Amino acid sequence: MALQVADCLFCKIIRNEESSEKIYEDEDVTCIKDINPASTHHYLILPNKHVRNAKTLKPEDSELFDKIIATVDIISEKFGLDPASTRTGFHWPPFNTINHLHLHVISPVEKMNTLKKIMFSHNTYWFVSTNYVKSRLNNSKL
Ligand SMILES: [Zn+2]
Ligand SMILES: [Zn+2]
Repeated sequence: MALQVADCLFCKIIRNEESSEKIYEDEDVTCIKDINPASTHHYLILPNKHVRNAKTLKPEDSELFDKIIATVDIISEKFGLDPASTRTGFHWPPFNTINHLHLHVISPVEKMNTLKKIMFSHNTYWFVSTNYVKSRLNNSKL
């Protein structure tokens, strides 16, 4: 069972009902710090709209999805992150800890410990790349 929007921690953060340091915010997305950073920089980009996870994204969410990806550049620029050592990706259900879609942005990859590297490694059952989700979205449009 998915959490109701009213009880969703990330929705509460977006609505400012729960405190969290917002790194970036606009009409579509909000970026916050991960409370358990895996490296020097670890941020979460959330759609302001409640989307449960990367698997429940629909073709009509394509624009929102692209906006989430574009926000990575804003965050990278803000903190001077090196794209070559920045890891981004989504949890893949049922391995998502919070039922509100969020893109992890972690940098530098070299500073992640072994466990975190495993937790946030692509092409696993639990964590997928933005390209994987993007191609899945594109294919579902056909
Ligand atoms: Zn939510
Ligand atoms: Zn997460």
